Amino acid sequence: MEYRRLGNSGLQISALSLGTWLTFGGHIDDTMADTLMSISYDAGVNFFDNAESYQGGKSEVVMGNILKQKTWSRSSYLVSSKIFWGNEDGKPNQKGLSRKHIFEATQKSLRSLQLDYIDLMFCHRPDKTVPIEETVWAMHNLITQGKILYWGTSEWSASEIMEAHLLCEVHHLIKPMVEQPHYNMFVRGKMENEFSHLFKHKGLGTTVWSPLASGLLSGKYHNGVPANTRLGDENLAWLKDSTINKERTDKINLLQALAKDLNLSLPVLALSWCLKNTNVSTVILGATKAIQLEENLTAIEKYTTLTAEVMEKIEAILQNKPVLPAF
Ligand code: NDP
Repeated sequence: MEYRRLGNSGLQISALSLGTWLTFGGHIDDTMADTLMSISYDAGVNFFDNAESYQGGKSEVVMGNILKQKTWSRSSYLVSSKIFWGNEDGKPNQKGLSRKHIFEATQKSLRSLQLDYIDLMFCHRPDKTVPIEETVWAMHNLITQGKILYWGTSEWSASEIMEAHLLCEVHHLIKPMVEQPHYNMFVRGKMENEFSHLFKHKGLGTTVWSPLASGLLSGKYHNGVPANTRLGDENLAWLKDSTINKERTDKINLLQALAKDLNLSLPVLALSWCLKNTNVSTVILGATKAIQLEENLTAIEKYTTLTAEVMEKIEAILQNKPVLPAF
């Protein structure tokens, strides 16, 4: 495993990590969840990603039960949670980024995960109804109370993150040091354009999500949508509709041929491409089967084989490189 510094913090994070969205407490049983965590940990993964909203809170409970049974030293791994959507009835104050929900969600996550502290706490989305100043103070206070160690954002805009930084500077508060953005071969804008200034001047770290576009970049949707897959779940039709389209499928066919020439599988090529971006601190993997995870973890050994020439070939297929403003 390779470890990267999470932005300009002192934290070392494995370049590949394991997430739980739709899987823990959902598409997989608890035994498989345990197996996936063990495979990850044994491969050197030190970060497990979670959120209050995943499977209505079940994902944190499953992870907490697994961690409790392991003999892993608490200092050897990082656990995250994320606050925004809540996991109760959606009454006022049971979601969002007010001081009240941030405090109560953290208490609940600590109980579910059966942990004394959470390493990384993310504000899962910006809350347009709450002053960023209130959110920033609440996150700072969680750190000083010892309930969390670091804080960050997910799917915030560059200007919202910048506002949070400025408020922290004015009030001498602990800054958000990590963002969790969507990033894969088809979704590149934030990581390769919008956040450029934050990477250069604020040392922002990133834990990127859906690196395989919910499995599309595994190539398995080539001939339609197979049963027992994420995009075949009829409750996730919205995800299928926003993920699969002809343009992407055509590009996947070309990427598949390139991967074959390189003696790589398509998912390993797609994950390797994410790892090549030095602004990526960790790529969060998702898996429903041990065999998927074992395959995906090999990207850490393969990604250096993506030479400049190979990256150019990929660029020629994707044709979606974000255009930076000219200076
Ligand atoms: P991916 O895009 O990698 O999708 C993972 C899914 O693709 C798996 O669950 C599996 O689904 C399928 N898959 C994975 N590997 C293979 C393979 N080798 N061959 C075939 N199929 C494969 O990642 P996720 O979308 O799961 O995102 C990763 C993590 O990021 C999440 O678990 C979560 O922790 C985080 N996240 C954060 C978000 C945020 O807003 N901050 C939003 C979304 C995710 P199946 O077998 O069911 O088809």
